[in-house]
Amino acid sequence: MAFPITRMRRLRKNENLRRMIRETKLSVDDFIFPLFVQHGRGLREEILSMPGNYRLSVDELVKECKEVAGLGIPGVILFGIPKVKDDKGSEGIAEDGIIQQALRALKKSLPDLIVITDVCFCEYTDHGHCGNIINQEVDNDTTLDWLAKMSVSHARAGADMVAPSDMMDGRVGAIRTALDQNGFSHIPILAYAAKFASAFYGPFRDAADSAPAFGDRRSYQMDPANGDEAIREVGLDIEEGADIVMVKPALPYLDIIRRVKEKFNIPIAAYNVSGEFAMIKAAGKMGWIDEERVMMESLTSIKRAGADLILTYFARDAAKLLG
Ligand SMILES: [Zn+2]
Repeated sequence: MAFPITRMRRLRKNENLRRMIRETKLSVDDFIFPLFVQHGRGLREEILSMPGNYRLSVDELVKECKEVAGLGIPGVILFGIPKVKDDKGSEGIAEDGIIQQALRALKKSLPDLIVITDVCFCEYTDHGHCGNIINQEVDNDTTLDWLAKMSVSHARAGADMVAPSDMMDGRVGAIRTALDQNGFSHIPILAYAAKFASAFYGPFRDAADSAPAFGDRRSYQMDPANGDEAIREVGLDIEEGADIVMVKPALPYLDIIRRVKEKFNIPIAAYNVSGEFAMIKAAGKMGWIDEERVMMESLTSIKRAGADLILTYFARDAAKLLG
């Protein structure tokens, strides 16, 4: 029944009517807030390209997480800034590593907050690559052992979930096996399954000081042009035991999120990355866009595409608006 019988505008007349037929509703339940933690006490250093985000010492991190939990945000993901970087990323698996300290402190004061840890070595290595370098290349199979050790170390310190972001082949299986063998069969894996070699990560690398010292990450992260390959990556991670799969970045890859949603029956996370955040913040500051509306529209589009969970630096701002 076409026009004039059908008039789509009938259901757009006012906000109450629009509310009744709204298909996608953002909720604070959808959010995971990323946080950066560093050594020291009383430290709260704002990250220049990510306004409102800080490198926090553990005591400040606990305060921040109390606020986050108070807003109803169910979980956070932690990224560590080590005291010393070396070629093996040693602090990443150290008992007194920054993430391990943060986990113990958070679990003590906020036992119910879901604390997820990023599992990767680029924040801890002096060369800034995600694993073990052999002949100027990240060696896949020896890196699996590193990642398994880091995951067990995080679980032992209290992580509720581990999130490998390295893009080595076979790492979800290696981590699952190691967790199970060490008494952590109950700890879920959130796999960065389709992680693209994206220029949108720029501000994050400033925050974590993790830009590679040589080369780039294109020999392990995905080519932005590939969709079918992303589906294969996600399928493999599910076979290896991933409990949640992630697409990263989010906004330039909404089609990938939708394809994963249609193909697999598993919770999907999307990472609304630092560059996506920074662009909206910067344009908002310039007065070129309405920051609040663009933020909510962007987050809604990620959910509409099929994401069940959104990792976003906007989590706190959006949670306040959603009330
Ligand atoms: Zn990495």
